[in-house]
Amino acid sequence: MPSWENNVRKVVPYTPGEQPKIQGLIKLNTNENPYPPSPGVLEALSALEADSIRRYPDPASGALTEAIAAYVGVTPDRVFAGVGSDDVLAMSFLTFFASGRPVLFPDITYSFYDVWADLFRIPYETQKLDADFGIVNRDYFKENGGVIFPNPNAPTGVLKGLEGIREILDHNRHVVVIVDEAYIDFAQDAELVREGSGIPASSALNLIDSYENLLVVQTCSKSRSMAGMRIGYAVGSKKLISYLNDAKYSFNSYTMNQAAIAAGCAAFRDDAWFRECTAKIIRTRERVKKELSALGFTFPDSKANFLFVTHPVLPARELFARLRRSNILVRYFDRPGIDNYLRVTIGTDDEMDALISFLKREVEAL
Ligand code: PMP
Repeated sequence: MPSWENNVRKVVPYTPGEQPKIQGLIKLNTNENPYPPSPGVLEALSALEADSIRRYPDPASGALTEAIAAYVGVTPDRVFAGVGSDDVLAMSFLTFFASGRPVLFPDITYSFYDVWADLFRIPYETQKLDADFGIVNRDYFKENGGVIFPNPNAPTGVLKGLEGIREILDHNRHVVVIVDEAYIDFAQDAELVREGSGIPASSALNLIDSYENLLVVQTCSKSRSMAGMRIGYAVGSKKLISYLNDAKYSFNSYTMNQAAIAAGCAAFRDDAWFRECTAKIIRTRERVKKELSALGFTFPDSKANFLFVTHPVLPARELFARLRRSNILVRYFDRPGIDNYLRVTIGTDDEMDALISFLKREVEAL
């Protein structure tokens, strides 16, 4: 190795899901929303003027943080926007996990957490899930440098209720606790999404006024159908948000481009669209659960827009390959403990029907 290479920061990167451009592909591998974003989003994008592109965007993304703040019911100085929740989470690792003590997160979880920890030289300790893929609260009561977990967890879809989150927070008053709610909007029943307050009862957003050290991270990639726009956000106390901004302005002042700001504002203006699409996905998920059970598949009771499925006879690795050959793409993780599972994103009813028909033929051929 040439000597200069000793001075390079070496990292093992995260592997994103594939984005193949294959005609007719049924793409159920990256938890994208099968429905388009609100028509208002496309209108906002086509209304962009040359001048707004010529100039730098508002470094504070004020219009967007105000729109998000109005949705959550907080003041805008409690909201931080970033380039997808990946950007917000990376910035949060850098900002809040600086003690040198190990950060705690589940062993089966979003596989970006250990990558950020390694990138920023943050020590971490993973905690085992229980036999039903649940996060075990007491494992997070020991001394640590911070706690992070997704709720619902990924790739399992398992949801922790608000009381469980509160218990973890009560044992972690001296560190920052991050709840990654990329999938939380799918965590209530379809009727409540349509008629309730909008914010699910199990969202840690319901606790941000009680815990100054709680940061809740959400995204427009899933429930707002805008994975391609890269909009994520964090909500927490003024202090947490101000620390995040200090880190952001020490790194890149203009994270959110003009188009993303306009698109994000339009999405938050169209609450009815968001509720309708979210409710549809939840309904499809509950139907698909029944059909997969009838074929012998088992899975944790997902409250997200994906199912994490296994079959007693059909090996997941082979099933993944056969599905792919039939133009149905799901996600397979070749990792101990979950290497006989497939993560299947909830698509449209037609897409899920095609998947079920394929699986029915596989099961009948056994
Ligand atoms: N958190 C979790 C748990 C996820 O699964 C994802 C999607 N890969 C993200 C965060 C990041 O999503 P985005 O950057 O698109 O907001």
